[in-house]
Amino acid sequence: MPNIFRRRALSAGRLDPLGATPHFHYGLLAMKITTDIQLLKYRRTKIVATLGPSSNDAETIEALIAAGADVFRLNMSHGTQESHRELYERVRAASNKAGRRPTAVLADLSGPKIRVGRFPEGGIELTAGTSATVTTRDVEGAAGLIPSQYEALATDVSPGDRILLDDGNLELEVLGVEETEVRSRVVTGGFLKNHKGMNLPGVELSTPSMTDKDKDDARFALALGVDFLALSFVRKAADIQELKEILATTSSSAAIIAKIETPQALGNIGEIVEVSDGIMVARGDLGVELPPQAVPLVQSQLIDLARKNSKPVIIATQMLESMVTHPRPTRAEVSDVALAVRSGADAVMLSAESASGKYPVQSVIMMDTIARETEAYHWQQDAFGSLSAADRNDHPLAVPNALARSTAQLSRELQVRTILVISKSGRTAAIMSASRPAAPIVATSSDPATCRMATLLWGVIPVNVTKEALRDPRTLSQHLARELGFAEPGQKILIVRGFGPDPVLDTPSITVVTI
Ligand code: PEP
Repeated sequence: MPNIFRRRALSAGRLDPLGATPHFHYGLLAMKITTDIQLLKYRRTKIVATLGPSSNDAETIEALIAAGADVFRLNMSHGTQESHRELYERVRAASNKAGRRPTAVLADLSGPKIRVGRFPEGGIELTAGTSATVTTRDVEGAAGLIPSQYEALATDVSPGDRILLDDGNLELEVLGVEETEVRSRVVTGGFLKNHKGMNLPGVELSTPSMTDKDKDDARFALALGVDFLALSFVRKAADIQELKEILATTSSSAAIIAKIETPQALGNIGEIVEVSDGIMVARGDLGVELPPQAVPLVQSQLIDLARKNSKPVIIATQMLESMVTHPRPTRAEVSDVALAVRSGADAVMLSAESASGKYPVQSVIMMDTIARETEAYHWQQDAFGSLSAADRNDHPLAVPNALARSTAQLSRELQVRTILVISKSGRTAAIMSASRPAAPIVATSSDPATCRMATLLWGVIPVNVTKEALRDPRTLSQHLARELGFAEPGQKILIVRGFGPDPVLDTPSITVVTI
């Protein structure tokens, strides 16, 4: 705790109270590089923090919120529904205690993750060049025998296919298949522990996209009231549609996030992005299924694609991995987070760092610090203009997207302090966010769920207001400017509304207002 407040105090002196000022005293002059940059008041990139044994108590959750966590992830691959319920309630209580800033909850469904079974000694040694058999019989493992619960394994794989174990650290090559037994040669050896993951790169899996456990967990999480539901190992749009059918049987309006972690998903990425509310670049499994060097290129393309579709994109896994055991990240990890921020990702995610690591709160502080410094530099360079221009060749744009792009440009040219968005479902906020304007977006909605959903959107500060307040946006803007301090008297803001899908009800408008 003391750490957080110290950090806040340190940065307070360099804060720009107006959110975005042209008067930076930082300059990248010829032959002179300085790191003395002035921070923006509002961090634009959001932080998702996974909860787990290191962070499941109320005090740590409160500290994570104070440190800057915007969304908490419940990983359904671990724990019980009861333990997730307790965590959920603790997050809601901590969020209420923290005050105005809403904090959202994302439940991450396990999906059809294939794993090895158990071994009497907790694992076996696999030696390169020797043979090993993977069996789908319900047995314990033994030397040279690897059990797996994935029944279709023997029918899905063929000689020549690769079987990767433990995040790709061990590798087998399939030699032959007999009923329940897959004979293989160990290509890369090592110690294989109980329940480690198994990946079959390039193999068309016959497993359904959602297991019975996923369906049960989805109903449970939706009844709990989570804001986001993420599905692992998505391969096609129909996988998301199946989850949406479950969603339709509930009263929840949770947003569906497709985790992109298989080559099949990349092959069907257009249709997946279209039906999902957002995507996660799940680099852990993606980096096993694809060669590791492909991951940065895929990440970059997925960020652009998500933005073109006005959908949020989360960059996940191993961002500050060494902070699981060390108080400071490696320089390469810092660069990784900075690159994700610089490329315009909506959110960066912590997994083991905040769930089971030694430094959960410090990891969030570190992510917050990297994002702020990177954004301040980007703002100073071109006020995020390079992000706005990413899809400049795709003409004609849909009307709301074109207006959002023009608004973003206007925000730079008029140097407005804020873009106030009136958003019912969150759609207008999402479209405005995707154009990456210079000024922070204050998204007002009378629906608390819409506000929580907007926590994931780049540059958006969600504010829950009454329905009556929304009827008079000019008065609302004056009130909020005073209360939240996002603009001073005499300064300009933009009010944006009506970018929703209904051409009759949603009449788009952009108004310039002087506070
Ligand atoms: C990943 O594979 O990168 C990921 C985020 O999924 P999980 O943490 O559920 O394995």
